[in-house]
Amino acid sequence: MAATKKLASFRLPPLPTVGELIKLYNLRAEKQLSQNFLLDLRLTDKIVRQAGCLNDAHVCEVGPGPGGITRSILNAGAADLLVVEKDSRFIPGLKLLSEAAPGKLRIVHGDILTYRMDRGFPTHISKAWDQDPPNLHVIGNLPFSVSTPLIIKWLENVANRTGPFAFGRTRLTLTFQKEVAERLTASTGSRQRSRISIMAQYLCTVHSCFTIPGRAFVPKPEVDVGVVHFTPLVQPQIQQPFKLVEKVVRNVFQFRRKHCHKGVEKLFPEACRAELTQEMMQQADVDPILRPTELTIPHIRALADAYASLCRREPGLFGYEFREELRLKRLGAGYSPAADALRDTSGCTAPC
Ligand code: SAM
Repeated sequence: MAATKKLASFRLPPLPTVGELIKLYNLRAEKQLSQNFLLDLRLTDKIVRQAGCLNDAHVCEVGPGPGGITRSILNAGAADLLVVEKDSRFIPGLKLLSEAAPGKLRIVHGDILTYRMDRGFPTHISKAWDQDPPNLHVIGNLPFSVSTPLIIKWLENVANRTGPFAFGRTRLTLTFQKEVAERLTASTGSRQRSRISIMAQYLCTVHSCFTIPGRAFVPKPEVDVGVVHFTPLVQPQIQQPFKLVEKVVRNVFQFRRKHCHKGVEKLFPEACRAELTQEMMQQADVDPILRPTELTIPHIRALADAYASLCRREPGLFGYEFREELRLKRLGAGYSPAADALRDTSGCTAPC
């Protein structure tokens, strides 16, 4: 109890401000790397509060840069903070912070897209998937060009319980371009409803925390920024492999404004397209004239389950990619090998 109190009351000693550090180490933001810094510690404190209680927590901060959010995480009582920063110019400033918080800050000079987070923390902090989340948090304000591919990779990690989720249902608090934040949290029927809404929400509780106006950053980006919190669900809302769900959702949303059966059709080679689409829609019991944005997660679950059962029956089917077939046709190379395989070897029982 006393130890917890001590950790909770940890404050960094007086240090140069983040702005002074930027000047001291000449940390000009690199426009090509979309570097936009947060210098206001009240704002970085507010971002960090969205993660929940960090007392005694293990935290991975992605892209700490000059260290504003890093300071807030340390002041919030984290016991073990691992920062992963790609740009070597920030390492000396982070080392200064590390000296001010002895034993609490570990610095990795590396790329978060390839960093093995499953090796970054001790295994004893793990919690079983059906228990409460572990006391491990991922927090970060990354460039938009990194945060979107990263969340897609991490959603697949949630599905497979790998990467940060090898420790259990690790919570994420991340910033995104406001439009992406809106898509991540968009509900059925809304204008922003898209592929990423389904992929995130079938695996996680996704919560939009608040919007940071672009003017709060130095230099000011073109757009506003949304802070989004993710907690993996104990039971994903769709019980099919991630890649299968991703394929169904990608095809369904390829014609956003059309009836959903238009996208479903593209899951099947031309020769058996009409029959298998009808069979899949009937099996899923989804109205074919709903628009993709009107589909609920139970609708997508029913479609994924129906597609999975067709894939079990037609062994070459999962390898079929409409876009690949189209690309090969444009090159004058005929239809795709996957479609060939389906026709020639699957013994497709559909009347096509
Ligand atoms: N977190 C700091 C803040 O809020 O002021 C910096 C934010 S800046 C938008 C993004 C930071 O992420 C930069 O420091 C950049 O060097 C770093 N970064 C960019 N890509 C990265 C990657 N793939 N892995 C790790 N860090 C990365």
